[in-house]
Amino acid sequence: MTKITPQPGIMDIALYQGGQSHVAGVEHVIKLSSNENPFGPSPKAIEAVRDSAATLHRYPSTDHASLRAAIGERHALDPARIICGVGSDEVLQFIAQAYAGVGDEVIYTEHGFSMYPIIARMAGATPVMVSERDRRVDVDNILAAVTEQTRIVFVTNPGNPTSTMIPEVDLVRLAEALPQSCLMVIDGAYTEFVNGFDGGASLVDRFENVIMTRTFSKIYGLGGMRVGWGYAAQSIIDVLNRVRQPFNLSLTALAAAEAAVRDDDYLTFCHGENARLRVWLSEELAKIDVPSDASCTNFILARFADQAEAEACDVYLKTQGLIVRRVAGYNLPNALRITVGDEEACRRVVAAITAFKGGAA
Ligand code: PMP
Repeated sequence: MTKITPQPGIMDIALYQGGQSHVAGVEHVIKLSSNENPFGPSPKAIEAVRDSAATLHRYPSTDHASLRAAIGERHALDPARIICGVGSDEVLQFIAQAYAGVGDEVIYTEHGFSMYPIIARMAGATPVMVSERDRRVDVDNILAAVTEQTRIVFVTNPGNPTSTMIPEVDLVRLAEALPQSCLMVIDGAYTEFVNGFDGGASLVDRFENVIMTRTFSKIYGLGGMRVGWGYAAQSIIDVLNRVRQPFNLSLTALAAAEAAVRDDDYLTFCHGENARLRVWLSEELAKIDVPSDASCTNFILARFADQAEAEACDVYLKTQGLIVRRVAGYNLPNALRITVGDEEACRRVVAAITAFKGGAA
């Protein structure tokens, strides 16, 4: 009897690494590995979730009109050109599924988000990795890799795990130089942490083939709800909606995201606290010879002498109940990515790394 086998290419899809929230044998852990908001969601989002319980027997909205209107209002964007997904992961997946297939190429950069090659392969396409320069996206390297088969270029801005920004001129240059047969996706999962950056919305308005993606998982503190969105030309949104399941977002998730996006005061609070604690964290680590590049997000990329030291530190931190993120899989073997936690978490991680380095904790 012939054994059932998966479709060609399925076994080439790497399993996602990350998201760990437990350490065997350690009861209380502080998780600083997924760039979550340590202050939690807006109290208004929690209230909205409670209120939504009364209508759980009903299917949720299929067109997300109310959430899209709220997002549109907050960012001065046309709601008709917004699509919502189960996290921005799902929006990225819609893009790959709708626009790339067998024989097509999908470009992502060396330290870009690890889901891009996974999503490309899920669509049957071939991921093509392009080098960065000093932990920065290099437009010339991307353009040199573009072929007739290239359908999508994914860039993360600001970068994860590098936290570096692609200058506006570079984004424009890339958008101008890409062939019309190729989409450029600006993944702005961390946009809200950056002062004066619109996530790429103005580029979307200028270039038909540019898409911006955003998430509620980071500054809005709704990672557990799984809500993300994309903004693009109407013709692209019309295509993406064809690969979207009709009830992809739960009633609860829609309610939470809408309340969160309407709560500007809470956003301002989270932005301020993150900026303050990020500076403190990186300055304290620099004092004990753990440098990090300037960060504009809610994480820092702490650099160690070599891979062995970074790995040993990671192991030590786990014994202390602190989970940070190894980024060797992002071609950054000497570094650990540390999410900016609340005050106590920041103090604990600095004390633990100080002890690891042999200083007084
Ligand atoms: N893009 C980037 C750069 C990310 O870091 C993440 C989450 N780690 C995502 C997209 C996906 O986020 P979500 O699916 O939770 O919206």
